[in-house]
Amino acid sequence: MTDSQSKPESLNPPPTAPRNLTGGGATRQMPLLPAMAIVKTPYFHVLGYSVAGEESVVQLPELNLVFDIGKCPRPVLSSDFCLLTHGHIDHSAGIVYYLSQRFFQGMAPGTVLCPAGIAEGLAGIFRAWAALEGKVPEHRLIPLNVGDEFEMRKGLVVRAFATRHSVPSVGYLILDRREKLRPDLSALNLPGHVLRDMRQRGEKITYTLDVPLAAYTGDTNMAQTLTQDGVREARVLITECTFFEPGHRRRAEAGRHLHLDDLIEALPQLRNELILITHVSRRTYLRWAAKVLAQAIPKTGNYPRVEFLMEHAQKLSVRPGKAATFTPPEPPEAIDAD
Ligand SMILES: [Zn+2]
Ligand SMILES: [Zn+2]
Repeated sequence: MTDSQSKPESLNPPPTAPRNLTGGGATRQMPLLPAMAIVKTPYFHVLGYSVAGEESVVQLPELNLVFDIGKCPRPVLSSDFCLLTHGHIDHSAGIVYYLSQRFFQGMAPGTVLCPAGIAEGLAGIFRAWAALEGKVPEHRLIPLNVGDEFEMRKGLVVRAFATRHSVPSVGYLILDRREKLRPDLSALNLPGHVLRDMRQRGEKITYTLDVPLAAYTGDTNMAQTLTQDGVREARVLITECTFFEPGHRRRAEAGRHLHLDDLIEALPQLRNELILITHVSRRTYLRWAAKVLAQAIPKTGNYPRVEFLMEHAQKLSVRPGKAATFTPPEPPEAIDAD
């Protein structure tokens, strides 16, 4: 039985009920806890929550990393590496809590990768919080410029790639890096001791093979973000796409975000197996956006599968009975800058 069914008729909101406390529209029921999405891929799970201006946090648990930290939902504490794309608060608010809780729980100090342009700002936040907390939790802060790489563990490398947003930003490409036997030597089927001798003589018998596993854009307004080397081939591409309304392309440009048209423009060049869309605004209804997306993808041609991360949000069963009623405030008309 729903909340409204359990009340006498006279207490139900009339059809002309105001949208919210300040007027207009009907009251909606929303759970107080945001429901995390879980997507299973052949390579890793993608766990996260992403709504423009509110919170973005996307964890790949098996790769021991989380892209952006949002408000630091509890599951993401388990990842040793936090890869911040930029400093907007919907992406980075939980960073001090992440470091502090890991210390509190007796976990290894967290490692934070970030665009070089925000490293000093982050260090300042850590220092400011230390004045309240008594100490800065142990951590590593790794600033990256576009093209820089960092090895998270043997064979798992992150590379920063270019994005364009209203503040310093980078995206992250995750590479599975393997040393493989040179194809010419492999064809000869040489015994192990011969290869060992060659190596001891200083001959290079292997080559490096990078398999791009995942790419995460964070916020960006550049369609070319998606078509960069590695990003377009990543098995799973996780990209923002904030605007879907046909007339909102200029608005997306002004807020430094992607419009669906940008994604569709890039699509023929993309070789990803799965594209997950994040950072949809709360005022965009996912079902409607999914229809618009389905219509926009050309009917012929071999395109990657495109889905919304938040389509995979887990249904929360709140006991006993029902979710709390919450009236969301009217979204501001201002252009999204986060
Ligand atoms: Zn954002
Ligand atoms: Zn932003």
